[in-house]
Amino acid sequence: MNLSTMEPRSRLIAEGVVLDDKAIERFWSHVAIGGPDECWLWDAFKMDNVYGKFMIKRKPYLTHRIAYILVKGALQHYALHINECTSRACCNPRHLYDGTQARNMLDREDAGRTPRGSTHGSAVLADADVLTIRELFASKQCKQYELADTYQVSRALISLIITRKRWSHI
Ligand SMILES: [Zn+2]
Repeated sequence: MNLSTMEPRSRLIAEGVVLDDKAIERFWSHVAIGGPDECWLWDAFKMDNVYGKFMIKRKPYLTHRIAYILVKGALQHYALHINECTSRACCNPRHLYDGTQARNMLDREDAGRTPRGSTHGSAVLADADVLTIRELFASKQCKQYELADTYQVSRALISLIITRKRWSHI
């Protein structure tokens, strides 16, 4: 399977950001493509040493999200890794799924219980998390509620971080 020459399902990786053939080739050249069940790790830059980071016009984009979109097509929300993944930098499309499904499941589980989000306000974020949250929002890769889900904090806190009313020192 030659992913760099395969016609992608979608080239639109974020609002207004379309990858051309050259960018796609550059992207896959940094993925250590292995067997179908292995983790395919991103070998270049990472956000906080966790998620793979691909720069386009000086803005960072999440590599697992790009891999998902190129191979499987548009994402409704965010891409998640399967539990077996050895690293969040894994770009094997078979190890990725659309977070919408997980979100729907959680929403159903929560029905009739306490509203989702009300118990997440106490999680502590590292400075690096705060920087990543701002980057992901500024580059339009994640909406505020997706960031709240990903980091298990309230949407109100995400809003305060983005508007620099919290962690304004970094
Ligand atoms: Zn994996």
